[in-house]
This record gives sequence, structure tokens and C-alpha cells, in this order.
Amino acid sequence: MSEPTGCCCAATTPSYCDHCDLLVGLDGLHVVDVDKTGHGVLVVTMESAPTVMGCPTCGVVAESHGRRTTTLVDIPCFARPTRLRWRKRTWRCLEPACPTRVFTEQDEQIARPRGLLTTRACRWVIEQVRREHASIHGLARQLGVAWKTVWGSIQPILATLADDEARFAGVTTLGVDEHLWHHVSPRKRGPKELTGMVDLTRDKDGRVRARLLDLVPGRSGTVYKTWLDQRGTAFKAGGRGRHPGPVPRLQERHRRQTRRRHRCPGCSPCGRPGRPGGR
Ligand SMILES: [Zn+2]
Ligand SMILES: [Zn+2]
Repeated sequence: MSEPTGCCCAATTPSYCDHCDLLVGLDGLHVVDVDKTGHGVLVVTMESAPTVMGCPTCGVVAESHGRRTTTLVDIPCFARPTRLRWRKRTWRCLEPACPTRVFTEQDEQIARPRGLLTTRACRWVIEQVRREHASIHGLARQLGVAWKTVWGSIQPILATLADDEARFAGVTTLGVDEHLWHHVSPRKRGPKELTGMVDLTRDKDGRVRARLLDLVPGRSGTVYKTWLDQRGTAFKAGGRGRHPGPVPRLQERHRRQTRRRHRCPGCSPCGRPGRPGGR
């Protein structure tokens, strides 16, 4: 059974509640209601304050056309799956010559158009995967949605990040690590063998903060050479210029470590039993 709980201040005054807005922390939106569904999902209803809006096409001041509610999946709040009900404002352009008739409030800081997750929920999922080794399945369970909802929301963002070459800037020391990703059919789970490129550049204090730069299918010298060629001469010169010859040396060292690890009994990276006494 639903248990509605009015916002502490908004329930008694026409103004919005600064405390609730601070708690939710979405700039430009104000809390107008907090509710809990029978399944323990927290539902926060928010809206932007009324304001004068010009038509995005012709610039003429538009007329209010009411609100349209969009429900988004947000980051879990106080260990509960959370939904954000965004009462989006809509407007109608009164200029007869303008092709735009009705338009809806959009803010990509809150959510992408037609997105299912809020922008910050997408960012949270990616950080959990990157930094905390969380699985998409586990995150979907925490958010209270299906696996494909989470993956479908972050996959385009990850693809954009993967295409961004800016992450290769400033890399002077490169590590190469082979990994056997799984032991089932590649037709079911994709490539078995992957080569990871790791940034091993030292910071100003001389410390190495290993950062995964890329993963490419296969594990051979050709794979590595192709990847290096794709980065261009400036990248290759940057690595060898400050550390003469570090790339081939690191590549060899990592390969030997990986090979040994994968033949040890109870191999921790992949969980495979391994060959008894194998090396
Ligand atoms: Zn309040
Ligand atoms: Zn217009």
C-alpha cells in the first residue's frame, strides 16, 4: 500500500523546500512530493520553478502547455531503489509561421532525452563498474530494474568514451597484459583472449597509478603492434622519448606473469583449476 509523505515545507507553504532540494541534489529541480511504493521503492516527484520560456526555433515567448511526467531510475537512496518523477513543463509556440508547435523541458544534466536512467545514475553505474568491480547484474538489482535497462543506458556512453583518444595523452610508460577472459565458447561470450593496455606513467611524486587504457581481442605481437599503429607516431614517440625502450620490456614482463598465473592451481583471475604443478 502506498504511503504518501508530503515534503516537509512544500506541504505547508507554496514555496519549495530547500532542505529536501539539498537532500536530492538535482540543480534546477525542486521536490514536490516523496512517496514509497508497496515494493519499497522510493518515489521522489520533482519539477522546475515556473519561468518565462522562449521558443527554441523562433525565440518568441511561448505559452505554458501544462506538464508531462517522466519517470526515471535514479541512484538508490538510503538503500532503497529510487524513482524520480520529473514533472516536465511543456510549452506551445504562438508564432503562426514557426514550425515548432509544442516543446518539452529538457536538461541533459538531469537525463538524456528518452533516457531511462538519470544522468547521475549512469555516471554512478560506470564508476561502480570501473572502480568497485561491480557487475551490471548486481547494479541492476540495486536499482530495481532489468539488466538490459542498465546496459542499454550506459553502452552508448561507454562507446563514446572508448572513441575518445584524449585518454592516451600524456602516457609515457605503457604496460601490456594478456588475459584469458573465459573458458566457454566464444560464440556465447565473445573473444576468449584479450590484451589490455595499461598506463604505468609515474605521477609527479614518482608513484605509478595503473590505469586501464584499452582492451583488444587476441593476444599476439600483431595485436599489440596494430594497436600501437592506431595511436599514431606522436603516441609512440611520447613513450619512447622519455623512457627509451620501456614498451617492449614491459610487454615481455607482463606476458610471462600472465602465463604463469593461468597455469597455477586455483587461478584467482579466472577461477580455473589449472594444471597440477603446471608452469
Ligand atoms: Zn522538505
Ligand atoms: Zn516558435
